[in-house]
Amino acid sequence: MNIHEYQAKNTLKSFGVSIQEGIVAQTPEEAVNAAKKLNEQTGTEWWVIKAQIHAGGRGKGGGVKLAKSLEDVKEISSEIIGMNLVTPQTSAEGKKVHQVLVAQDVYYPGEFDTEEYYMSVLLNRANGRNMIMYSTEGGMDIESVAENTPHLIFHEEIDPSVGLQAFQARKIAFNLGLSGQAFKEMVKFVFALYKAYEQIDASLFEINPVLKTSDEKVIAVDSKVTLDNNALYRHKDLAELRDVREEDPTEVEAGEAGLSYVNLDGNVGCMVNGAGLAMATMDIIKLSGGNPANFLDVGGTADAERVEKAFRIILKDPNVEAILVNIFGGIVRCDRVAQGVVDAYRNIGDIPVPIIVRLQGTNAEEAKKIVDESGLKVHSAILLQEAADKVSEVLA
Ligand code: GDP
Ligand code: MN
Repeated sequence: MNIHEYQAKNTLKSFGVSIQEGIVAQTPEEAVNAAKKLNEQTGTEWWVIKAQIHAGGRGKGGGVKLAKSLEDVKEISSEIIGMNLVTPQTSAEGKKVHQVLVAQDVYYPGEFDTEEYYMSVLLNRANGRNMIMYSTEGGMDIESVAENTPHLIFHEEIDPSVGLQAFQARKIAFNLGLSGQAFKEMVKFVFALYKAYEQIDASLFEINPVLKTSDEKVIAVDSKVTLDNNALYRHKDLAELRDVREEDPTEVEAGEAGLSYVNLDGNVGCMVNGAGLAMATMDIIKLSGGNPANFLDVGGTADAERVEKAFRIILKDPNVEAILVNIFGGIVRCDRVAQGVVDAYRNIGDIPVPIIVRLQGTNAEEAKKIVDESGLKVHSAILLQEAADKVSEVLA
């Protein structure tokens, strides 16, 4: 689960990470009040107005702007609140902005002795250890740094049995070229950041930029935090930070029905039981000349009700030209699933696209018979190759 920048910063701050201070606002009036309050708290006379959406690259899309007066704050926030923000990380339609973060300006005016770094904390799946990734080249696209100057990206692996060690935090500060007070600040920053990452069961922290100010402070100017959904049950307060407005409505609906669904941009819908089989099915669709329109795992119980819900969700996508149902009947018998597919089809009424059903496992032959004798526009298959050939046929 992703959370907003302002929520992420509040969370980091509670673990002692120093941040660019800010206050969230839903309206231009609230933004002006927030700016006044920040002025009282921090003395700042300039502010940055930052669109709060679950996507990065906001600066490039016009979602981060500097305000040099309260009039600016009002004008800029009325522009940004309600806008459809398109960034390199959103779809072409962009994302609607519901709120802005009014933050203190921390790039001290007229001073150029500031540095922007990149820092992330994540799990290295290859060796099962957390790692801190960091670079002197922050503030911009880390992707292009990785591509053009990969030697400027450093990693520090953390041994889970001993945790982050002081020498590692010092090495990070050293590799970032720091000395004196800023060096100490960075060591503190890294420790606090790593502690937060562990304590909240995050799966990703990305702080870009981490700023070294001209007076030797180290602060998080941006923060992206992704939480591990599997651990949310033990962080009720963080679970409440979910903003469903930021999520794909169909994915939310599927989640509520207990289906794992991810919308993709292809033309063949798929309904599968088991994540591994779903991945394999997407490969098969690709090999047969189509493109998967979604990932959909109906889970262990492929009963009529779930199958019907899954059909309805797949059919919401206007790009779907065919549906491939690929179910392995292990515990669930294939004839039961076949009956479920037929019943779901009848309940929904006229499904406008061809359906290919491949059932393998217990009672596969009986299942094929049920599908074939249903009189519906459903093609049956037992082998995966047959199913793939039928997908090519119906798309041709
Ligand atoms: P992103 O574009 O979504 O990654 O949003 P960021 O929070 O990283 O902000 C984008 C850019 O806005 C940063 O890289 C900075 O260059 C700029 N920015 C952010 N905060 C301030 C600030 O306090 N003062 C000034 N002048 N610029 C800022
Ligand atoms: Mn950023």
